[in-house]
Amino acid sequence: MNRQPPSPANGGGPPADAPLQYVKGIGPKRASALEAVGIRTIRDLLFYFPFDYLDRSKIISIRDLRKYVDAERPVTVIGEVYRVEMRRSRRSNRLIFFLTLKDDTGFLTCVWFEGVQWFKDAFELGELLAVSAYPDFDKLGRIQFTHPEFDRLRGAQEEDEPDWGKLFNTGAIIPKYPSTSELGKVGLDSRGFRRIIRNALKSHLMGIEEVLPEEIRERANLAGCRTALQGIHFPENSDALEIARRRLKFEELFFLQLMLAYRKRRYGLEKKGITYSLESTLARKLVAALPFQLTKAQRRVLREIADDMRKPTPMNRLLQGDVGSGKTIVALLSMLVAVENDFQVALMAPTEVLAEQHYRTLCAYLENLPVNVRLLIGGQKKKLREDVLEDLRSGRAQIVVGTHALLEENVRFAHLGFVVIDEQHRFGVMQRATLREKGLNPDVLVMTATPIPRTLALTVYGDLDVSVIDEMPANRKPIKTGVRLEDQKDKVYDFVKQEVRQGRQVYIVFPLIEESEKVDLKAATVEFEHLKSAVFPSVRLGLLHGRMKSEEKDQIMQSFKAGEIQILVSTTVIEVGIDVPNATIMIVENAERFGLSQLHQLRGRVGRGADQSFCILIANYGWFDGHRRGLEPGEVKKEKLNAKIRLETMVETIDGFKIAEVDLRLRGPGEFFGLRQSGVPAFRLANLVEDAELVAMARKEAFSLVDRDPQLRSDSHRSVRKHFESQYRDALELGNVG
Ligand code: ADP
Ligand code: MG
Repeated sequence: MNRQPPSPANGGGPPADAPLQYVKGIGPKRASALEAVGIRTIRDLLFYFPFDYLDRSKIISIRDLRKYVDAERPVTVIGEVYRVEMRRSRRSNRLIFFLTLKDDTGFLTCVWFEGVQWFKDAFELGELLAVSAYPDFDKLGRIQFTHPEFDRLRGAQEEDEPDWGKLFNTGAIIPKYPSTSELGKVGLDSRGFRRIIRNALKSHLMGIEEVLPEEIRERANLAGCRTALQGIHFPENSDALEIARRRLKFEELFFLQLMLAYRKRRYGLEKKGITYSLESTLARKLVAALPFQLTKAQRRVLREIADDMRKPTPMNRLLQGDVGSGKTIVALLSMLVAVENDFQVALMAPTEVLAEQHYRTLCAYLENLPVNVRLLIGGQKKKLREDVLEDLRSGRAQIVVGTHALLEENVRFAHLGFVVIDEQHRFGVMQRATLREKGLNPDVLVMTATPIPRTLALTVYGDLDVSVIDEMPANRKPIKTGVRLEDQKDKVYDFVKQEVRQGRQVYIVFPLIEESEKVDLKAATVEFEHLKSAVFPSVRLGLLHGRMKSEEKDQIMQSFKAGEIQILVSTTVIEVGIDVPNATIMIVENAERFGLSQLHQLRGRVGRGADQSFCILIANYGWFDGHRRGLEPGEVKKEKLNAKIRLETMVETIDGFKIAEVDLRLRGPGEFFGLRQSGVPAFRLANLVEDAELVAMARKEAFSLVDRDPQLRSDSHRSVRKHFESQYRDALELGNVG
């Protein structure tokens, strides 16, 4: 079986990158079935981890089953197949399959009404099975399992399989492996995997190379890789399993952090950035003229940014702050430092509405200061656009605010030195790079209103330094949030009328602009006409949606700001950044269809002034039953439940970080932050939220390793390098553009 000469680079075993067929029990058929699921080498096979385990604590003896008739999870019994039998139901005349299982304490009947023909030959007497189900009763009141899940533990004559029954008594744990029907066809069900993996461990474990330097393993108190692999597959007890999992999780996190460390290093080292002088009369004048005091958090973050600007390496910083925490003024003060140093500044926003608003906000702040601010967006007249472009080329424009129109080829700067990107998660890494390249290694400040739990921030934005504004301006009253059902809408509208009479302004937000194909969505336009004529005939309403021309949008926003429009009916285009302090009511129609962060952003549009603000979420849970997205009943139920959790979370808290955590739990990190697009490989074991401590530890070790030995030249780092190059090349390439 050992057909390879021992290799001196590892523990002396045959190499683990050998083809699968070197493993006992794997022939050409199994090898190709395994290849189809991405398992190509013996190493891949050893890194095919169990999805669950059976241990003694989960196993119930048959005698005790009666105590579990109300169990909230399926219970598991292990026993030998004692009898199998097909019977025909007298009532329905259908065939039913019965299997009787025996353990030391009694007998248990398992019943199958479906797939009987297959089951009838599926088991042999004496075979050892683990079966899991919710216990129920037969007609005579005896406990039975209906359609249990089963896992074959040992065939009747299999001498080479361990005696799990005995092993359990010593604390051993049985791994359960994921399988597919294709794999099942070649005998690779859970038991099949247990066998070939056991064989692979026997023959090839010694060929697995340690990829973590000993020094790091000692500091982080981690098991060696062979101990860990043995332990993740066939743990002798639960402690051994935990030790194995910890080590393997760390390994995943460590290599991810290593990748981030390289991204960051490449950007910082290869480029020589601008060294700003921090003396800025403009910024000082602006601070003196503000109608409010900067919060402590705003001042701290300003200092962090200033420190970066003073350094010769380019800044690459994330500015995080909940909606309404006052990011704009912080960005502007930093921008003024760049302007005073004779560099141009570009501020990029995700939508035209937002770009226009930033433009106006900046103009208002800078009213009495000699700074030339321009706006560049898609829908502008040609002549105006030419003029803006010329101002950028000549350097006359000191600050330009724009959308992704800024990224176009013909936008050139005289000396772009500072880039601010608002609401980063809407732009890809690529776009960040494109804008940056229009200058000579400008400083980059990325602003986001999506609070990210810290461990995730370290991962998703691992190559950025992070500043957090974690304090709200003092004058805010917490927004009152409530959920109302569709049929309580009249009352909500009455409340709106009352508030409008007091001089307040209102947003009413709808999910989409036009009836999209088959989905029954209320179009904001249709609804707008209805609201205007039937509900609020004596109130001034305006409509805003994404398909309007930019001048039109601008005009509507201006009249809303000026108070001419009292109720703004809108799609989610107002989701981010809009700032109208007199608007105190946010009504979200069909709130059940919005994501949690989206709702939080929408709510952040109110509560910006000193008056009490309200957010009313109108829910129509029935929509989930009626909608036609081809969901199964179980999924519909889950979606409905998730929607309820989202709305309840909104009522319970206004803390953006808490909301982000719930969102993360509901959606999982992949979707939450488009992790997949960021070049981050999927984890098999690690969980960015639950394993926060390991994330931090892995980050520290990885970053310090890159500092000490950037080329990974030393002997003890060679295996790190080899593994990194083979596994993470793609992700690194992607990192190049960031
Ligand atoms: P966001 O962080 O959501 O972008 P903004 O920068 O739009 O928040 O600020 C929200 C509102 O709070 C604006 O009207 C701004 O003028 C105001 N603001 C900013 N900083 C303070 C402060 N320190 N005290 C009081 N109001 C502030
Ligand atoms: Mg903002």
